[in-house]
Amino acid sequence: MKSVIALLGRPNVGKSTLFNRLTRSRDALVADHAGLTRDRIYGHVRDDNAQFILIDTGGLTNETDSMSELMRKQAALAIDEADLMVFLVDGRAGLLPADEEIARLLRNVGKPVLLVINKSEGEQRELVAAEFYSMGLGEPVVISATQGRGIDRLLNHITNIL
Ligand code: GDP
Ligand code: MG
Repeated sequence: MKSVIALLGRPNVGKSTLFNRLTRSRDALVADHAGLTRDRIYGHVRDDNAQFILIDTGGLTNETDSMSELMRKQAALAIDEADLMVFLVDGRAGLLPADEEIARLLRNVGKPVLLVINKSEGEQRELVAAEFYSMGLGEPVVISATQGRGIDRLLNHITNIL
């Protein structure tokens, strides 16, 4: 059976952008508005050496409005289905308390987590990577979903874990 990978992280870190790049589709809504992808969206990733099902999620926040609640439930379902959780963070925003909360949540799931730093076209890549490394989720993979940087390396990491 094909492996399933869930894209998780705060709203607006670039999950849908990465989903679109990996599935080469425009199925996921990409928007400047946080949390616009409301439903879980499935896509197939077919690469020379990687084949898996990818789930985009709306994003995890600890806000208590009904939309955040819905997104949290959908993320939980995606986590249930996943063989691997890709935890996407925003390298431009740096490490936020919300990221640490998600890290805690994902650690408790007991499934493999791959930490991926997106939006890393800037200069402070090493600095930012060190900051996120402190979450204790291992060595992060550094990418730019919009520019396509680090995507091959990401796929290699994923294949090695699956
Ligand atoms: P999601 O809420 O996590 O699904 O995030 P989106 O994919 O909707 O992206 C949110 C915003 O971040 C959009 O304006 C994207 O164009 C932007 N974005 C996504 N990936 C990158 C990236 O690698 N670099 C930069 N600079 N912006 C990005
Ligand atoms: Mg999205």
